[in-house]
Formats: sequence, C-alpha cells, structure tokens
Amino acid sequence: MKKLISILCIITLFLVTTSSACAETVVYNTKTGKYHSLGCQWAKKCTVNCIKLEKKDAKARGGVPCKVCGG
Ligand SMILES: [Zn+2]
Repeated sequence: MKKLISILCIITLFLVTTSSACAETVVYNTKTGKYHSLGCQWAKKCTVNCIKLEKKDAKARGGVPCKVCGG
C-alpha cells in the first residue's frame, strides 16, 4: 500500500510542475530530534531550537515523529 502511495506521489510530481507537491514541511526540534506537524501545539511553543524543513530531511537528520501530532 505504501508503495502505491509512493507511485501516486511520483505521478503527481510529473503532473504538477511544482516540486513541493509531495513535500511536507515539519517543524524539527534540533535539540530533542523530534519533528512536528505545523499545527502541533509543541511546534508553536518551540521557537528557539526549531527549524522548518521537509519531513524527509527531518528523518535524514535522525528525527523521530512527535507522539502528540505524529509528526
Ligand atoms: Zn507535535
């Protein structure tokens, strides 16, 4: 199922000219290594150690999803 979603995502990328179609921005806490969805209460509270980046980049940095919002 995940593979199917990936294929759909790739197809969407070809159809849509913007490369950000499948990119999901998260708030990554560089101190705790957790990443949050933009609407997460913890993401809003995190102002010092947090940076916005793509979820795949957060994972590449060893980030783990927040338990509250699921990343
Ligand atoms: Zn969160």
